[in-house]
Amino acid sequence: MTIIMKFGGTSVGSVAAVQNVHKIVKERLDKAPIVVVSALSGITDALIKSAKDAEQGRIDDSAIRKKHNDLLKGLGLDDGLVDDELSELLEVLKTIAEEGLTKRSLDHVQSFGERMSSKIVAAYMTKKGMNARALNSYDVGLVTDSNFTEAEIDSCSYENLKKNPLLKEKGIVNVVTGYIAKDHKGDITTLGRGGSDFTAAIIGAALDAEEVQIWTDVDGILTSDPKIVKNAVTIDEISFEEAAELAYFGAKVVHPKTIIPATENNIPVLVLNTHNPSHKGTRIVKSARDAEHGIFKAISSKKNVTIIRIVSSRMLGVYGFLAVIFDIFRNHKIAVDMVSTSEISVSVSVGSKDDIGPLIEDLEKIGSIEVRKKRAIVCIVGKGMKNIPGVSGKIFSVCGDEKINVEMISQGASQVNMGFIVDEGDADRIVVALHRELIEKRR
Ligand code: ASP
Ligand code: MG
Repeated sequence: MTIIMKFGGTSVGSVAAVQNVHKIVKERLDKAPIVVVSALSGITDALIKSAKDAEQGRIDDSAIRKKHNDLLKGLGLDDGLVDDELSELLEVLKTIAEEGLTKRSLDHVQSFGERMSSKIVAAYMTKKGMNARALNSYDVGLVTDSNFTEAEIDSCSYENLKKNPLLKEKGIVNVVTGYIAKDHKGDITTLGRGGSDFTAAIIGAALDAEEVQIWTDVDGILTSDPKIVKNAVTIDEISFEEAAELAYFGAKVVHPKTIIPATENNIPVLVLNTHNPSHKGTRIVKSARDAEHGIFKAISSKKNVTIIRIVSSRMLGVYGFLAVIFDIFRNHKIAVDMVSTSEISVSVSVGSKDDIGPLIEDLEKIGSIEVRKKRAIVCIVGKGMKNIPGVSGKIFSVCGDEKINVEMISQGASQVNMGFIVDEGDADRIVVALHRELIEKRR
């Protein structure tokens, strides 16, 4: 049996953090951990910037160099430890300045982040007396297609990783690069931003790990955004579906897509805090029990939402009308968050980033259109909500008490969430009130 322990950027981004990582791993050696690391915090962004600068003829790796050298110094490690990577990076940047930037060279540049962080973490653990070594994920079997910057895992990776003798070796802690891989030709690829969690989940699934631990800088997934709700607390256990709804509507601790390989194989994923390791964090499992305090697990909101309402009497008793509407959205490549329908109207919410002008022009051909901006989606998550009578009554009486106007209501198709739209200015107030009434009072 083994466990996978993934440490994010802030968990490896400072002397104190790396010291915590060593301590946390050391306490779990009996579980044969495999460590997966992100680049030091801020480094992936800095690498992308250096590549874009190089394309403009400006070569500047000083910030990247300094961050790594400072960390090596602070940890008392050999200051030349990542010199090879740093000089290879400089070469790649020079080539970009001459030949231009491609997605392929961008991935090459980004790869240095995880290649350096894994070496540093392994070297520090070794210095502290642990038997540890850095490994590049692509040297132990991770293979993708050639869709640079958003590469898809090739399914052969699972077999490769499972058979790899280095990962099986006992008595040694492997520190593996997250986020990066290679395609079949041997060119370096990346898995999309935040992809280190994905690497951890893939290795976990391949080796049938006992659990995958995602070590980050917060105490797991909270019942609400602590910046809005000061009484927000950690959710003990959450299902994959519930976590997915939460992530979609604002909570960003782990991206659910990236943990699918683990949850599909019934491997629990734990979200834990490197800076507060004794906290038990949140456990994400395929199907979770209800929260101790009742059926409501979390309340989140997403601001800056626009509602488009399409009214047409032609909808009455006609089939296919919704298909016509959604075809128009598809043609304009605009994603829809929430939908609610009545006999003669359809309301749809969209994010505010898109330019909806041309979409509206097309929609006007089928009905009259009303656009309301500066709205927020409020989303209540908890799979126990389904089939319980009075749930919506409870929720909307809180809105009534707060004198908040609710504009659009939708129960998610997955039946683990209930969403509605309010004026953006009311969002924080209703989130606080719902949290108090549905979660705090029931604890
Ligand atoms: N370093 C990569 C990023 O910043 C991958 C990760 O941190 O998961 O997106
Ligand atoms: Mg990250």
